[in-house]
Amino acid sequence: MCTEPIEIDGAQGEGGGQILRTSLSLAALQRRPLRLHRIRHRRGKPGLLRQHLTAVRALAEITDAEVTGASLGSRELSIVPKAARGGVYRFSIGSAGSTTLVAQTILPALLFADGPSEVTLEGGTHNPSAPPFEFLTEVVFPVLREMGAEVDASLEVPGFYPAGGGRFVMRVEPVTSLEPVRRVACPSTFTLEAEAVVSRLPRRVAMRELAVVEAAFPAAARTPMTVTSPGPGNLTAIAVKADDVVYERCTAFGERGRPAEAVAEEAVDHTRRFLAAGVPVGEHLADQLVLLAALAKPGSQVRTVSPSLHTTTNVEVVNHFLGAGTILLEERDDGWWIERP
Ligand code: ATP
Repeated sequence: MCTEPIEIDGAQGEGGGQILRTSLSLAALQRRPLRLHRIRHRRGKPGLLRQHLTAVRALAEITDAEVTGASLGSRELSIVPKAARGGVYRFSIGSAGSTTLVAQTILPALLFADGPSEVTLEGGTHNPSAPPFEFLTEVVFPVLREMGAEVDASLEVPGFYPAGGGRFVMRVEPVTSLEPVRRVACPSTFTLEAEAVVSRLPRRVAMRELAVVEAAFPAAARTPMTVTSPGPGNLTAIAVKADDVVYERCTAFGERGRPAEAVAEEAVDHTRRFLAAGVPVGEHLADQLVLLAALAKPGSQVRTVSPSLHTTTNVEVVNHFLGAGTILLEERDDGWWIERP
């Protein structure tokens, strides 16, 4: 525990919500007072949106923290967290904001809490620009289990932008330490499993999307799904698997006026880029593993694609908190490496 506040500039790097989430997670783990300035400075609508505010409040409740600046639109925040407590929690965003990003913020604290937790999260579960629920459960959680964590989640109601109204329950058993994450070898062959999901839209939308997937990847398994959600929603997702491990899950979302074919093409392009890269970790998992590698015992190694601004910013924030060189990011002949020496 450290009582000296750490100052974080929310305008650095990608200048969005990721800096807030990673800083909150680290402040909780280190029980270190945090002062954030210029929150989401590089966004059109800077400051805390509902999703970010819920993440702040959730973390504050779990760590019994003193907080100032926790209001909508706030660009300054200070939080003094105490030890994380396991328990039964419910956090509602009150909009279609991403529940998975709230989960991302509180998960590290819950992993090192004083007891098990069951957390109900309400809002959007399948949002553009956030991990879809299945990305969390099929891609991120298995890595965490490899690291020794016991974590799972069940989807009760899917929630799509803009109506929201989704809900999932996440269960976390605390650990005393996490093993390093190692994702270096890339399987030589993958199988593909595609899903096209619709809520309050005709099933033919899903069928049109799967036809595009079939034309691109004739061997891919294809499943159309109709789900019940408070509002309309549509997505195409392609899981890239080998030996029961989901290495990547490429998701594209439908929106009003966007042809089904364009949605599916986006998921297909994402999948093609991942397959062509010849690395085991895609762009989104990479940025999400930076913090997990930092929390684990030394020795993590991840081979990935060229880093996104989210990845480089997460590395900067982690190294600011935990010391220069905690996480190394380096380009080599066979891709980019994220390492925790
Ligand atoms: P803002 O940038 O407006 O503040 P935000 O707080 O909602 O937005 P970002 O900072 O953009 O969110 O962070 C998005 C997070 O969601 C990142 O961890 C990114 O890897 C993840 N993500 C985005 N799209 C996907 C996707 N299709 N699959 C998995 N993860 C995703």
